[in-house]
Amino acid sequence: MVNRCAFSGCKNKILSVGINCHKCKLYFCSNHRLPEEHICPHMQEIKEEAYANLSNTLQQQKCVATKI
Ligand SMILES: [Zn+2]
Ligand SMILES: [Zn+2]
Repeated sequence: MVNRCAFSGCKNKILSVGINCHKCKLYFCSNHRLPEEHICPHMQEIKEEAYANLSNTLQQQKCVATKI
């Protein structure tokens, strides 16, 4: 059971198992849980997903607004 931050050089312990990156499946301390902070190898993918989610949300809001 790994309970140390997976970021190289970081010796912070992980208190809960809640913080992990769903892309690289590694656990990080609260300082390194963000893809930007642990220099996630899947960062590009995450950004694209975030962008897709955002445009989906905007699309939905647009639909709602049109219905009203
Ligand atoms: Zn860390
Ligand atoms: Zn990651």
